[in-house]
Amino acid sequence: MIFLYPIQGADASKVAVVGGFRRDFYYRSDIYIGGQHMATDLTYPDGTPLRPVGPATIAWAGSEIYAGNFVSIDLEGGFRATYRHLIAPAPVTIGQRVTPQDTIGHVGATGIYAGWSHLHFDLWNKEKKSPEAIFKNGWWAHDPELYLGQEEAMTQTEFNKMFAQAVKEALVYAYDEKTKQPVGTKHTVGAYLHQIRRLQVAVNALQARADAAGVKRGDTVTLTGKLA
Ligand SMILES: [Zn+2]
Repeated sequence: MIFLYPIQGADASKVAVVGGFRRDFYYRSDIYIGGQHMATDLTYPDGTPLRPVGPATIAWAGSEIYAGNFVSIDLEGGFRATYRHLIAPAPVTIGQRVTPQDTIGHVGATGIYAGWSHLHFDLWNKEKKSPEAIFKNGWWAHDPELYLGQEEAMTQTEFNKMFAQAVKEALVYAYDEKTKQPVGTKHTVGAYLHQIRRLQVAVNALQARADAAGVKRGDTVTLTGKLA
């Protein structure tokens, strides 16, 4: 079961550390019950609209000292997602049917320990659906990052193409060990790959010449010529 991201138009690359530090499912701190976060924090500006990650029913909504304003939705497959630290009470009623076209709240920083504007998103199920799940009060907390991102589903070919492009565009720096400063010119990985391919072509040509002369790798060759 894979759901959408709770933020329209978002993708995994944007779910990182814009203005905050990252707290994933496994993040540990004594402020959490049992020490583990059991949720993912998605950092977005105040007021960013939040959508259901799939067709759902509003299970609960309210305000609480730790969570701030929050809304819980019941999804397919027995999943329940909770959105916490909303900027204002969720504009929904309990039992209401909602779809990803609806807005069920907006990013905020309400509640204790919110710290910065972000969505604290957690995903529960009465059944254990994957190995990382942690049992608490009759529910299993699942790592949301394993379950979000339906829009990113892509074929292996599409992924390979995207990955190759990203690698080619990545810049390579040479660092001076002593000064810790970059030295020389920055090149893209693609430029280095091009050079490596040219060298490979040259090596292959030399190998072909050696093969044509009946010399194989591992043969002992005695050089008799004189250096010019
Ligand atoms: Zn959190």
